[in-house]
Amino acid sequence: MFELANLIRPNIRAMQPYSSARDEFQGEARVMLDANENSLGSAGPELFNRYPDPHQRAVKAALAKLKGVAPEQIFLGNGSDEAIDLLVRLTCRPAQEDSILILPPTYGMYEVAANLNDVRLERVPLTPEFQLSADAVKQIIASEAKLVFICSPNNPTGNLLHAEAIEQVLRNFRGLVVVDEAYADFAAAPSWTTRLAEFPNLVVLQTFSKAWGLAGLRLGMAFASPDIIGYLNKIKPPYNVSEATQQHALAALADAPHFEQMRQELLEGRTWLLEQLPGLPIVAQLFPSDANFLLVRFRPEATAVYDYLLGKGIVVRNRTSQPGCAGTLRLTVGTPAENEQLVAALREYAA
Ligand SMILES: *Cc1c(COP(=O)(O)O)cnc(C)c1O
Repeated sequence: MFELANLIRPNIRAMQPYSSARDEFQGEARVMLDANENSLGSAGPELFNRYPDPHQRAVKAALAKLKGVAPEQIFLGNGSDEAIDLLVRLTCRPAQEDSILILPPTYGMYEVAANLNDVRLERVPLTPEFQLSADAVKQIIASEAKLVFICSPNNPTGNLLHAEAIEQVLRNFRGLVVVDEAYADFAAAPSWTTRLAEFPNLVVLQTFSKAWGLAGLRLGMAFASPDIIGYLNKIKPPYNVSEATQQHALAALADAPHFEQMRQELLEGRTWLLEQLPGLPIVAQLFPSDANFLLVRFRPEATAVYDYLLGKGIVVRNRTSQPGCAGTLRLTVGTPAENEQLVAALREYAA
């Protein structure tokens, strides 16, 4: 059975977290001489001389409202990539002692985080339709891995994984179940954040890098039980989300209509590409997408198409070497003009 304390590395359970100046004193004093900041001001055009809120209270309050969770169920990181690394480090002893489970083809950072932390990697491949087979679910449930990364909608394939299979994993796997929803805003399915109360082993990852259009800002979210979030807070660098990022995220959250308008436009772009691409003779297979990209299988030779597009100044992602993805390129939905350029170039190649 799932028992959180058994999954946390003993040294992390035992250690004292860093106590920052901003942990020991919160609020505004007239004279702030506790953190070795520069009271005179900042070089550069804007004032950033004070350390940021290490718990990002204002951003979490706004996010809690938007996502229908409690602030204590939210962790914020320097991109969701930081949350991925912290989740691996939280649960897995290094020196190949413990393992994580991934479901290829999937997002590359899980494997990098495992390698970086000297943690074993177990691979349970998805089916040719990029779903979890009944046998795969059995393998996951039987595994001793400390956590499994389930990317849904999956990168680079674009599809949602069937909810029933994920639910079986949540009910029976002993480790943490991390559902990476970087592309949830483009998906026609409820977020797994709506199921947090049911599953104490569930961690949901989301990001400001995709639908919010803030990849350069570096802000990722993890949603989980207050106990799991407490452990992530215990091991994070104290000031992992900058003041500039916190201010900008608050402004973005207050600008929800712009987010929604861009989201709709990207969904329309996806629909348009889905209509255009099947008509091209070099397109052999188009995979269903709940994300802001399409995985496309080209014939006779995807890498030749990739090089040809590059020559036209259009860069896409070559996924031909990923398991189950032979002959495929991953095409991000762009502006309407960019989508038209892409299709025009592909049509010309075909001719
Ligand atoms: C893009 C992406 C992320 C986002 O990572 P950030 O560090 O938040 O930019 C996370 N997971 C997947 C599957 C992605 O494709």
